[in-house]
Amino acid sequence: MRRVTIYGATGSIGCSTIDLISRDRDAYQVVALTGGRNVALLAEQARRLGAEVAVTAHEDCLTDLRDALAGSGVEAAAGRTALLEAGTRPADWVMSGIVGSAGLEPGLVALEQGATLALANKESLVCAGELLMRTARNAGARVLPVDSEHSAVFQALNGEDMSRVERVIITASGGAFRDWPLDKLARATPAEAATHPNWDMGQRITIDSASMFNKALELIETHEFFGIEPKRIEALVHPESLIHAMVGFVDGGIMAHVGPHDMRHAIGYALNWPDRQALPVERLDFAKIGQMNFIAPDETRYPALRLARDVMAAGGLAGATFNAAKERALDHFIAGRIGFLQMSELVEAVLEKVSAEGFGSGEMRLDDVMSADRTARALADELVPKITT
Ligand code: NAD
Ligand code: MG
Repeated sequence: MRRVTIYGATGSIGCSTIDLISRDRDAYQVVALTGGRNVALLAEQARRLGAEVAVTAHEDCLTDLRDALAGSGVEAAAGRTALLEAGTRPADWVMSGIVGSAGLEPGLVALEQGATLALANKESLVCAGELLMRTARNAGARVLPVDSEHSAVFQALNGEDMSRVERVIITASGGAFRDWPLDKLARATPAEAATHPNWDMGQRITIDSASMFNKALELIETHEFFGIEPKRIEALVHPESLIHAMVGFVDGGIMAHVGPHDMRHAIGYALNWPDRQALPVERLDFAKIGQMNFIAPDETRYPALRLARDVMAAGGLAGATFNAAKERALDHFIAGRIGFLQMSELVEAVLEKVSAEGFGSGEMRLDDVMSADRTARALADELVPKITT
């Protein structure tokens, strides 16, 4: 039996992971499940899977979680320390499915104990790629990509020599506003941005898809995970989202990964790697699909992509600054304090301010990453009135 822990079990990625594990109950022993305020769902999952412990990130939810787990034999715990403690419990495979930089430390803890980390939490790589990959190397642990584009690149690279890779293309659906005129975009609401044409995901990543901040994070994620030079990484709008990524080699050949819009493919690939097992996803019918389209992304429409290039060029703690500013800009947009297009203005303003003092260099330490994260959040809050006037 493989021991499995799922961070962010109640989210979109967490639920898809549980769906797969539930189909083969005898193969897995569930160690820890973690979630947020939805303790009813967390308790139901923990009972159903017979987890050792269920952890809510919020201390004020502990009583509710305890009540919901009464008589089940599942331990209840709450708060950040409990979350990190759950990650130290021996596990073979850990899903990193928390959203935001809050997922970084739990991922590090899991790697330190030698677990394989299935990484959906792209923010970990954006804010501390060097630290995360070094922690894995030092512990002899593995990080496997779960973001669909990165799983696609990983699969296309199977058996290939990295020195023969010429370019990597990650695709983007274009999000909810792909066909909206630019002037209308300025007035787009959070509810409009939170509907995705192809994928069913958490609210935050869905809005990030509409603004292309998601693709911006993914460009950096590609650079950090595979060590590919920024100039060799491209983003391409592909409205059908059937090709998830393509890898071009020095001989001009290109390997494209094609699959349905269902995260259970990428999650299942990471769960079964290095094997492949049957997965309950749709089988594509190409005659029905008929055609696939590709459009170059417009950087005036999507300034996030340009900012990602600046971040990769700057290195150091620029990623942590970028990600934290983006997380706060998104909070402010959801709260109605700034407009849709102002999210990138705010992030750019934070990057500009911090870059004056430099983004640091040398070996990355967790304390420095967390401090850069806090500074960027505080700066973003401070700059909101300047952006809105
Ligand atoms: P979600 O909002 O649906 O779920 C997030 C989970 O994290 C929930 O269980 C929530 O309780 C927990 N959480 C949130 N904030 C937390 C905090 N501060 N501390 C501890 N736990 C916290 O998000 P999602 O769409 O499942 O995305 C999860 C991660 O996977 C994100 O990094 C996202 O970018 C990435 N991802 C998601 C998809 C997708 O299809 N949903 C695809 C690719 C990558
Ligand atoms: Mg993705």
